[in-house]
Amino acid sequence: MKNEMTLAFDSISENEGFARVAVAAFVTQLNPTLEEVADIKTAVSEAVTNAIVHGYPDGVHTVVIRARLNEQEAELWIIDEGVGISDIKQAMEPLYTTRPEQERSGMGFMFMEAFMDLVEVQSSPGVGTTVYMKKQIRQGVGRQEG
Ligand code: ATP
Ligand code: MG
Repeated sequence: MKNEMTLAFDSISENEGFARVAVAAFVTQLNPTLEEVADIKTAVSEAVTNAIVHGYPDGVHTVVIRARLNEQEAELWIIDEGVGISDIKQAMEPLYTTRPEQERSGMGFMFMEAFMDLVEVQSSPGVGTTVYMKKQIRQGVGRQEG
């Protein structure tokens, strides 16, 4: 099946849980395993938290999630029009954080890469950040439809 959705919401921490659950509900159409859903929820959570705390450090703005389901894969885009990232490679290094004082540990991108098959970041300072992630859904035998 093919299916697409777009979700736009305020950059407040209360929406981290909403975004995670909304994407999980959408992806359920591909008949994923519980583990696949849990992986996607974790990755979405990390990307959305980053958009909220790093992308929009001041004030409330809009975070957008686009999701596309293909036959056996889910594609996600987490988009902010916030401060952007000047050195993407450095930002994606394990344990690198610009906010150690906020008890951030620099593990977000590491989790996204561990739980998704592909993570790509596009970002420009002052323009914003788009995190693209993709995951195969194995659609095993004997699972319930619906
Ligand atoms: P943790 O995720 O463990 O709480 P963290 O958010 O600092 O810590 P990562 O999620 O790996 O760690 O992100 C690394 C760094 O990349 C951040 O500290 C921040 O500087 C930058 N960054 C990530 N996402 C964005 C974004 N959407 N906009 C601007 N900067 C970002
Ligand atoms: Mg993070």
